[in-house]
Amino acid sequence: MAKENQFVEQIADINADFPQWYTDVVLKTKLVDYGPVKGTMVIRPYGYAIWENIQKELDSRFKKRGVENAYFPLLIPMSYFTKEAEHVEGFAPEVAIVTVAGGEELAEPLAIRPTSETIIGTMMSKWTQSYRDLPMKVNQWCNVMRWEKTTRPFLRTSEFLWQEGHTAFASAEEAERDTLAMLGVYKEFAENCLAIPVLTGRKTDKEKFAGAEATYTMEAMMKDGKSLQAGTSHYMGQNFANAFDIQYLGKEGVLEKAYTSSWGVSTRLIGAVIMTHGDERGLVLPPVVAPVQCVIVPIAARKGGVVEACEALKAELENAGLRVAFDNSDNSPGWKFNEWEMKGVPVRIELGPRDIEAGKMLLARRDTLEKLEKPLENAAETVKELLATVQKDMLEAARARRESRIVYADDMASILKGVDEGNFVKAGWCGCRECEDKIKEETGATARVFAEGESRENCAVCGKKSEHVIVFARAY
Ligand code: ZN
Repeated sequence: MAKENQFVEQIADINADFPQWYTDVVLKTKLVDYGPVKGTMVIRPYGYAIWENIQKELDSRFKKRGVENAYFPLLIPMSYFTKEAEHVEGFAPEVAIVTVAGGEELAEPLAIRPTSETIIGTMMSKWTQSYRDLPMKVNQWCNVMRWEKTTRPFLRTSEFLWQEGHTAFASAEEAERDTLAMLGVYKEFAENCLAIPVLTGRKTDKEKFAGAEATYTMEAMMKDGKSLQAGTSHYMGQNFANAFDIQYLGKEGVLEKAYTSSWGVSTRLIGAVIMTHGDERGLVLPPVVAPVQCVIVPIAARKGGVVEACEALKAELENAGLRVAFDNSDNSPGWKFNEWEMKGVPVRIELGPRDIEAGKMLLARRDTLEKLEKPLENAAETVKELLATVQKDMLEAARARRESRIVYADDMASILKGVDEGNFVKAGWCGCRECEDKIKEETGATARVFAEGESRENCAVCGKKSEHVIVFARAY
């Protein structure tokens, strides 16, 4: 099989060289290309279509929670960044700054947004006059820039696409509750739309967002055992309200400071999908976000009636709301099977003269490579059901894989062994920064997320009493 499949030969062996496999897959399936400036990527139509489906799913969830979309400028006065000390310190090394425009040196340098807390905070201070203006929940879909010298498409690029939600509330309780609720929205979306199981919880102070009181994260295990931070939700307390004067007239007629939060996910999610589900043949896309959910491949297309039957089936499936491709190119069926498999299309439908005569179609699942013969009658319903099964099974398979690769460790040697073998390692931690730093130095693993509700006797580094259990992993 592999010999005849020249597409497989174009992709590095996933087990032997995962990074090269990833690069091959994103380029050969035409998700991305490299931009002319180092650190930049071009998102090609097939990749952008995944992003559009992600946007559509998330946007409707945000709107159900009363979030409104807006757009803020790309350029931010540098002085805004200096208003929140931790924030400016955290972002300074990666901010790109415009100093010349219109042929003249600018009086004040302008930052290309690495994130928009500062400009949105400034605008919120204008917009929140009274308690009636709260809560305020705005979101923007946009690009941001964080300077990078290397390019890993979807994972690490200078410019990427994301959404950033920003909220202001009258009380700390409401703001904290919303911060966690948004994390819940992300988790539900990751699991039900991307079929990616995630661990959610708080980050250590070392790993939190610059300027936040608390950062909550969702962490996903990639097939190489590394963790990918797939989304974050930050509770800012009054840090940004103080820095940007986000205040309002309370019910008692007294000026009060608001409490804010922010939350975001980015085109990294596409990288997460690729590395959670992909296999030796290429992409495996979850049906909810797949640009093409099923592809119809004609068998003996020159025989009378085959093309017509395929076109009729395509129309029927499209009318049922499915995203369908009909591959009527002059490549051989074998070529087409391999190409669409590499592109990760969840279901392939084969239709030839004998099938048509017998009133049947052959369905092939991308996730399990299983083949099923089904009646042509009620095809749309059959395909829809199969897509739902694929979606569910992909999540379960990914969850089982992750669960089998979570181990416990009580000393440094076991942490190192655990991450070397591609696991998430749960270990006790005393809570001090020195021990956290030491784990990073000696194992390359970082504290990904608190494992809430779990306890261990001792800190795996210093042996003192353990205060928390942390999930350690190497990460993207
Ligand atoms: Zn310790």
